[in-house]
Parts: sequence; C-alpha cells; structure tokens
Amino acid sequence: MNTSNMGLIGLGVMGSNLALNLSDNGYSLSVYNRTYALTQQFMDRHAQGRVIQAAQTLPEFVGQLATPRIIMLMVTAGRAVDAVVEQLLPLLDPNDIIIDGGNSNYKDTTRRWQELTAKGIRFVGMGVSGGEEGARHGPSLMPGGAIEAWADIREMFQAVAAKVDGEACCQWLGEGGSGHYVKMVHNGIEYGDMQLIAEVCHLMQHALGMDFDTMADTFAAWNQGKLESYLIDITSQILRQKDTDGSPLVTKILDRAGQKGTGLWTAQDALEHAVPLTLISEAVHARMLSARKDERVAAAQILGGLQAPVPPEQRQAFLDAIHDALYAAKLVSYAQGFMLMQTAAAQYGWNLPYGDIALLWRAGCIIRSRFLGDIKASFAREPVPQSLLQDPFFAVELKQADNGWRKAVALAVMQGVPVPALSSALSFYDGYRCADGSANILQAQRDFFGAHGYQRVDRDPALHFHTHWSA
Ligand code: NAP
Repeated sequence: MNTSNMGLIGLGVMGSNLALNLSDNGYSLSVYNRTYALTQQFMDRHAQGRVIQAAQTLPEFVGQLATPRIIMLMVTAGRAVDAVVEQLLPLLDPNDIIIDGGNSNYKDTTRRWQELTAKGIRFVGMGVSGGEEGARHGPSLMPGGAIEAWADIREMFQAVAAKVDGEACCQWLGEGGSGHYVKMVHNGIEYGDMQLIAEVCHLMQHALGMDFDTMADTFAAWNQGKLESYLIDITSQILRQKDTDGSPLVTKILDRAGQKGTGLWTAQDALEHAVPLTLISEAVHARMLSARKDERVAAAQILGGLQAPVPPEQRQAFLDAIHDALYAAKLVSYAQGFMLMQTAAAQYGWNLPYGDIALLWRAGCIIRSRFLGDIKASFAREPVPQSLLQDPFFAVELKQADNGWRKAVALAVMQGVPVPALSSALSFYDGYRCADGSANILQAQRDFFGAHGYQRVDRDPALHFHTHWSA
C-alpha cells in the first residue's frame, strides 16, 4: 500500500510531535524509528483514529509512500543523518525528497545537498524551532536547499507551521544550507535573549534587592509592553515557581548552564565571516564561565563579591532604566544577527528574504516576540536601511533608551553584578555610531612594530604609507 503522503523517520521528542501535527492537518503518514519499540509505543498511544502506518524496516517504510516520496528525518544531528541517508538511498528513486529537520550544521547540509543533488534526490535542510510544543501545535520552519522540492512540500509545511495574522511561519529561504544557517542564527539570538534576561534577573536580585515574586510581577508587566515575548513570559512564570518547601525554585537550581553547540557555531561562524557578533559571543562565554562553578566559588572567597543593594526608594528609577537597557541591547543583538546573515548570504550567494525571516520568527519559536513585527517593517522600507540600528524607527527607540541603558550598566559595574551581554551591546552601539574610532592608534602601532603601513584620511585610500617612527 504505497499511499502515505509522507514518511517520517525518528520518533523522538520532535519527530513524534511533528507526526501528530501533520496528522491533525489531514496528511497520511508512515513512521519509522531505528528502535522499533518506540514506534510501537507511538502507535499504541496515538494511532487510533489517525491515518498513520508503522514500518518495522526501511524497505517497508519506503514501500508505503506515495511517489515521488517525501521523507522527513527528525533524528539526532550529525552522523545519524548521514547514516540514515545512506540506508535510504538504495531504496529511493530520482526526484524523491529528503528533508532533514534536525539541528544540522549548515556546512553539513550544504555538503548533503550537493551530494544528493548529484544523485537526483531533492534535499531540503529545514530548521525547526519551537521545541516539543511548537512541533506539536505549530513550529517555526526554515526550509532551504533544493528549490525544486518547494512546490511539493510547501502546502504541507505551511499547514503545520505557526501562523501570524494568517501567514505561515514557514517560507523558502534559499539554496544549500541556508535554512539551517538561519536556524543557527536563530539559536544564537536565542542564547543572547536568554543571557540578557538572566543578567536582568541578577541585577534585580542583587543590585536592587528585589524578591522573586516582585521580579515575576515586573516581567509580567513588561510582557504587556514592547518587550512582549515568549522568553519574558516564561521568565515571569519561572520566577514565581515554588519548590516543595515554598521557596523559589530558581534558588535551588545550580547556576551552571548547559549548551548543545548552536550558539558556539554562531559565534565561530561570525569570527570566520569577520562579523562583530559580540552579544551572542558573550552569551556563549557566559555559559562557559558558568560551567566553572568550583573555580568561581573559590574566587569569591579570595576576591570578594557583590556590593549591598541600592536603597529601596531608588528601585523604580533603576527598574525603568533596566527595562530600557534590555530593549536596546536586544535590538543590538538582532542587528548583529542580521549583519551576520547578510554577510554570509553575500559570501554563499544566497538571496535571503530578511523580512520573511523576521516574520517566521514571530511565532512558533523560542524567540517569538512583538518586536519582530517592527523588524519585519524595517525590511519592507525602500531602501532597506543598512542596519536595524539605522532604521528610522529603531534610531528613535535607541535614543530614548540611551540614558537608561547607561544607567543600568553603570549600576551593574558599581555593584559588581556581571552583565557581559548588556554592557558589550552598549560598547558595540557606541563603537558603531563612532565616526572617528580608535583604530588609527592600532594602525600606527602596527606600522611602528611591523611596517604594515596605513592609509591617510587626507589622501587617496588606495595609497599606503609607512613612517620611520623611531626616527
Ligand atoms: P530525541 O528525542 O533524542 O530523538 C532522537 C531520534 O533520533 C530518535 O528517534 C533516535 O532513534 C534517532 N536516532 C539517533 N541516532 C540515530 C541513528 N544513527 N540512526 C537512526 N536514528 C537515529 O531528539 P529530538 O529532541 O526529537 O531532536 C531531533 C532533532 O531535532 C535533533 O537534531 C535536534 O537537535 C532537533 N531539535 C530539537 C529540538 C528540541 O527542543 N528537542 C528543537 C529543535 C530541533 P532511537 O530511538 O533508535 O534512538
């Protein structure tokens, strides 16, 4: 019976939820999992009343699919994807479609796309965001690769994706590994947003002396304004959560952050592309420093720690400043993320639809926020501003936030509260708007010790000069 609209391989957290979402939207499915017990468990729990076929072997699975076949992989990124593709290939026909929905490295996706295109297979690398809940009820989807596949898969994936004002958070992004590239940057931005919020919580607790319920109330109030976003909302809920003994649960959670690597990939990629992605890089570094718990505990004994909080009567003014700092730093982070995508797109020959990217992050994913609507509007301008930081709307917002941003960072510095993301964003902003920077001194030093030469502001920039400094 080769009747299923599509096949899904990998019934872990994401695969099983995506399968149910596809089924809810009327698509018939075949499912396969390496460990058959998981397939049986999935069928026992969910198959009743749904058009889902289970397969115990890959040949059986492939035989159940309508042609040309559409096969989605939701398996662990890395070697597992190559292993499954290798097992599938002898069973497929030219023009069949393979979609990798895992968090694959975009360079792997580009390689797979090239190899599979040469074999006549249409390969799509699709970033899937939103975690378990998104996969089940509407993820943000970032497809790229073989454009020839798009017409055959568009309706299906736009049906299951999250929607904003009726528009699906699933748009075609471009060739090769572009879909997974955009997903990687999304994850990097997610690291940045999370770090900024964590720093703000730390400031509230240690510099302002706030209790967790008041902090939760503050985030809930902020979530009604321009900071409205999924991460602000869940932070409010997290701060309110109590442990079994009635104390705030967050006070029992070890301050050592894990990471699966997509933030690191983003930071590494920015270095390779010479893009100053300072905020996301700081977020990755902050997780690395957090992992050195024992060393930090020892250092606190030797070097001392935080200052006493400011008097309560000053709290509200500082809270307003911290709100503005969070908003402005977040804008810098997105501006840097788009700068990275624009630079990579130019190198790889991708024509990334930046407005659509802002739209498809507006719902279904972890970084969803009201603010992404304003970013989409920026990319609809004629001409598109060189950076979000030069957009007329955001320029006004930044000027309004400027004073509070500095006040919040100064507070952190004086109280000894670490705010690497908030403060590096401010330094980037000051550097970005600095028409006459300090690199003239660097150039002079380079010429002094290495005879590297320099350009002059009063001469043709094509000319290079060297000075015999010590003379
Ligand atoms: P998961 O629950 O750990 O499931 C992993 C799946 O991969 C299982 O079905 C596993 O099969 C299969 N698998 C692993 N190695 C395999 C191999 N060599 N051959 C065949 N199958 C293999 O993972 P998940 O959370 O669903 O994530 C799946 C993908 O989505 C990953 O790339 C992940 O990074 C990405 N993702 C996850 C999230 C999230 O929030 N969890 C969000 C976005 C994207 P067995 O049962 O046989 O081990």
